[in-house]
Amino acid sequence: MRIILLGPPGAGKGTQAKTLAQEIKLPHISTGDLLRKNVSQGTSLGKQAQDFMNKGALVPDELVNQMLTERISLPDAQEGFILDGYPRNLAQAGILDEALKKLGKQVDLVVYLDTSEAVVIQRLSGRLVCKNCGANFHATNMPPKKAMTCDNCGGALYQRSDDKEETIRKRLEVYRDECAPVIKYYQAKGTLQRLVADGEANKVLVDIVKLVRKHHDSLKV
Ligand code: AMP
Repeated sequence: MRIILLGPPGAGKGTQAKTLAQEIKLPHISTGDLLRKNVSQGTSLGKQAQDFMNKGALVPDELVNQMLTERISLPDAQEGFILDGYPRNLAQAGILDEALKKLGKQVDLVVYLDTSEAVVIQRLSGRLVCKNCGANFHATNMPPKKAMTCDNCGGALYQRSDDKEETIRKRLEVYRDECAPVIKYYQAKGTLQRLVADGEANKVLVDIVKLVRKHHDSLKV
């Protein structure tokens, strides 16, 4: 089953996708994580992407598309995946459809995590991420037990450079301009399900799992 989590930065796509991946045993594919890995490893892709990411702008399609199509062609993604951070514009949605068509597959379910701007800014400006395992915490909503230390693996926590308030506003602007048409695209195809995601992460997860199970059962009928 191929699932996409859509929504503004700070909607909780990464947090939800990580937990959902464990629950339904499909890989979580985050283009943001893949890009950050390339940046930290100093690859040619990482060097080209870094400036765009720091500014809160989208990385050019030609860099992201190849990375994504290679990732979804790997053996672990053949039974399905949970995509987070892609597609971010209509051209990417088209590329994904084409790539899946070549593999004889399609997007099965798109979950749109509808989140208000105030919640997004509050979540992102306090977000802390583990350098080692990628787990997310929040300075006030979900503080780690020990300051700036990951509860799961003991790794150091850091604030993403694009989680500064000014960059958050830029990312939201990009989201409104580029990603809103993607929501309409999947709505027209009938694959989009909308969930209000302003509430607690655990409750949102329960709703996502319900949607996924319902969809999975209807695929089997
Ligand atoms: P994220 O972790 O999804 O918030 O992504 C962090 C940053 O990575 C974004 O602000 C973009 O600069 C870049 N990025 C991630 N996914 C994409 C994508 N599908 N297309 C273009 N840029 C992306």
